[in-house]
Amino acid sequence: MFLFMSILGADGRCEKRNAAVGGVKGSKHTKGKAADLSCSLGAAKMFETVKKLHAEGKLPDLDYCIRYKTFIHIDCGGKRKSLWEIRA
Ligand SMILES: [Zn+2]
Repeated sequence: MFLFMSILGADGRCEKRNAAVGGVKGSKHTKGKAADLSCSLGAAKMFETVKKLHAEGKLPDLDYCIRYKTFIHIDCGGKRKSLWEIRA
């Protein structure tokens, strides 16, 4: 199986670039604590895979995972009300 994966925003995005890509002010991306990932399997499959890995205790630092239509956002920027969110 061919798997293509790209990291869209695993960076210490500056506030200017963050604003340019539509990120929220104070985004975890600006603190180097977030990554946006896409892969050929699609966002839904990646989201389920991250959930499975987390359930197995393999992602202990994960604080937040959002599934968008074409990518997922993951971060370790502090606990939220819910770990999982779907905005697709
Ligand atoms: Zn993101």
